[in-house]
This record gives sequence, C-alpha cells and structure tokens, in this order.
Amino acid sequence: MSVFISEHLDYLEATKSATAKRLGVDNRPSESDLQNMRRIAKAIFEPLRANVANGPLAVTSFFRSKRVNAAVGGAYSSQHTCGQAMDIDADVHGGCTNRQVFDYIREHLAFDQLIWESGDDSSPAWVHVSLKESGNRGEVLRSVKVNGKMCYRPL
Ligand SMILES: [Zn+2]
Repeated sequence: MSVFISEHLDYLEATKSATAKRLGVDNRPSESDLQNMRRIAKAIFEPLRANVANGPLAVTSFFRSKRVNAAVGGAYSSQHTCGQAMDIDADVHGGCTNRQVFDYIREHLAFDQLIWESGDDSSPAWVHVSLKESGNRGEVLRSVKVNGKMCYRPL
C-alpha cells in the first residue's frame, strides 16, 4: 500500500477520522477505494494546491468506511465511502479562501458534484467535491438548513 495518495497528500491524512478513532472502527480503504482516491487527489486536490493555495491545503475528510459514514450522517456523503469525495477547508492553512477553492473547481476542473457547504453568501465554510471514473455530472449545489434539516439546492 503506497504511503502517498498523490504527491502532496499522504495516506494518514486521507484516512484519518476522529469518529473512527472514537468508536474504534476500521477506516481502511480497499484497493478500488484507493484507486478512486488517487484519481480525485491527482485531478482536483493537486491542481488546487498548486494553483490556488500555492502551498498546504487541508483535506478535512476524505475516505470514510461505511460504519464511520453512518456514524457521522450526511445526505451527500456516500461518495466518501468509496473514496470519490473529499472535503477541503482552506481556512486551516490560510493560503487562500474556500470561495477561491470553490470558484477554481467550478471554472477549471472536471467534477461530479461540487458543494458550497454552510458558511454565508461570501464563502462556504468548507468545500465538498467528488469525482468518478466516468459519468461525471458537473452538479453544483449549496447546502442550506431548512427547519433544522440540511438540504441541497442547485447553485
Ligand atoms: Zn463531503
């Protein structure tokens, strides 16, 4: 098993989960999950790091096993369970804003789903993005809380 998912993203960061640790459950990707993870890391994370952040860029949630995903909940999180989705939070290192990350993906990169997560009208609190091997929808959504329930609307 390779230590790096892509040039600047290592296996530990890509599989770390506070929930998995707390519950003592397995959070190891299969070989096909890893293939998906390498695909999105190379096609989306690395270009963002090089062209938008110009340095460290935090992936706050990437792979989640089915048990971990069930424990954290979330309507659009299933793509995390096969390594096709990652959550990026530029505020962790501060080299750019989440708005810049979101806009760059939308304008320059191929993706399946791009979600403006929480935040306000000027910037998301974090960015969820997914990529599949084929059949990518290029769907752009924003999460909004309606009566305490998280909903996703086209953006
Ligand atoms: Zn996500």
